[in-house]
Amino acid sequence: MRDVIIIGAGAAGMMCAGIAVQRGRSVTVIDHAASPGEKIRISGGGRCNFTNRGTTPAQFLSANPHFCISALSRYSQDDFIALVDRHRITWHEKTLGQLFCDGSAQQIIDLLLSEMAGAELRLNSKVTAVEKAAEGFRLQLADGEILQSRALVVASGGKSIPKMGASDFGYRLAAQFGLGITPTQPALVPLTFEAALLKRLNALSGVAVPARVACGRTAFQEALLFTHRGLSGPVILQISSYWQDGAEIRVSLLPGHDLFALLQAARAQNGRQAAHTFLATLLPRRLAKDIADAEGCSGNLADLSDARLRSLANTVTDWRIVPAGSEGYRTAEVTSGGVDTRDLNSTTMEARDVPGLYFIGEVVDVTGWLGGYNFQWAWSSGWCAGQAV
Ligand SMILES: Cc1cc2nc3c(=O)[nH]c(=O)nc-3n(C[C@H](O)[C@H](O)[C@H](O)COP(=O)(O)OP(=O)(O)OC[C@H]3O[C@@H](n4cnc5c(N)ncnc54)[C@H](O)[C@@H]3O)c2cc1C
Repeated sequence: MRDVIIIGAGAAGMMCAGIAVQRGRSVTVIDHAASPGEKIRISGGGRCNFTNRGTTPAQFLSANPHFCISALSRYSQDDFIALVDRHRITWHEKTLGQLFCDGSAQQIIDLLLSEMAGAELRLNSKVTAVEKAAEGFRLQLADGEILQSRALVVASGGKSIPKMGASDFGYRLAAQFGLGITPTQPALVPLTFEAALLKRLNALSGVAVPARVACGRTAFQEALLFTHRGLSGPVILQISSYWQDGAEIRVSLLPGHDLFALLQAARAQNGRQAAHTFLATLLPRRLAKDIADAEGCSGNLADLSDARLRSLANTVTDWRIVPAGSEGYRTAEVTSGGVDTRDLNSTTMEARDVPGLYFIGEVVDVTGWLGGYNFQWAWSSGWCAGQAV
C-alpha cells in the first residue's frame, strides 16, 4: 500500500508528487501518455510561459472566485520563480508580466522530474476503475494490476487537445464520488465566424493590430490577428473564456482614439486625401482599405458627410460581431468549468465528503487568463495537495 497515488503526470501532478515525496511519502504517479508533461513541452511556443509576475485571484474564472485565493497565496508566483532560479533556469519577461524560459520548456519538465526524484512514475498506464477500499483507494489498471493507496490525487487535466491524451476521466471520477461538476467549455480558443464574414477576414489573413475586445462587461486589450480561419491572437483567446453561444463581441481596432474627431480634422486639413489613405496612417494599409471599401467610403474625405465619417469611425472602433462558435477542444488551451469548488477544501484541495481524495490543476473549476496563470494554478494547487497528503 502506497501513501499516495497521483493520476496525471502533468504540471499539477508532478508538482504535487515532488512536494509529497520530499515530505517522506511513498508516491506513484500514473499517466496513460508515453512521456510526462506533454502540455508543458508544447506550451508558450516551446518556451513555457511558466507563470505571471502579476498573478492575483482576479485573473481566474470560477463559479466561486474566492476559492483560488488561499492556494495562490500559500504558493505564489514568487515561490515558483525561486524554484526556477534554484534550478538555474534562466528566463525572461515578455509583455504583461509573462515569464518564459530562455531555453526550452523541457527545462521545466526536467525541474519537476528532479523535484519528484524518489517517486515511481508509471507511463503508458491506464486506470480503468477506482473504488473506495476499507483503507484508502483501490485502482485497477488496464493490464489487470491492482494498486492501493491511502490518498488519491486526481490531476488528469481538462478536455482540451484530445489528441494529446486529454480525457474527461477526472470529471467522471468526481461524479462517481458524488462531487458536483460545473459546466465545462473550451476556453482560450479561437472563435469562428459565418461564411460571408469569414470570406472577408480571409483576405486580411496575416494582419495584426492592437485591439480592445469586449464581451458583456469584460474587456481585454492585446494583439488581434486576422487568420484564414477568422480572428485569433491573444485578445480573442482571452475573450473566448467569457463568451457564450449567441453572445456579441465588440471590437475596437483603434482603442483609445476618437476616430470621428480625427477624421473630421483630417477632412478640414486635407479634403482631397482618400479616406483609406488617412486610415492607413493609423491602421495596417490592407485593413484600412478593406474597411473603407466595405463602408462605401472609397472617395475623398471632402466628399464624405459627418454621418458617413461617424459610421466609418464606428466600424473601426465599435465593430459588433456574433461569432458562430469556437474551434472547440481540438485547439482550446484550457477547459473552463470542472470539479465544483464547493465540494473541495480550498487549503488542501481535498474533497469535503471523501477524505483522502484530492483534485488539482485544470480539472478543478478554476481557469486562468492567457499569460502563465494556468500553470501558476497547477503549481499552487499541486503544492497545497502535496502538503496535505
Ligand atoms: C498548446 C497549449 C499551450 C499552453 N501554454 C500555456 C502557457 O504557456 N502557460 C500556461 O500557464 N498555460 C498554458 N497552457 C495551459 C496548461 O498547459 C494547462 O493549464 C496545464 O497543463 C494544466 O495542468 P494539469 O496538470 O492540470 O493538466 P495536464 O498538464 O493536462 O496533465 C494531465 C495529465 O493527465 C494525463 N491523463 C489524462 N487522463 C488520464 C487518464 N485517464 N489516465 C492517466 N492519465 C491521464 C494526461 O496524459 C496528462 O499528462 C497551454 C495549453 C496548451 C494546450
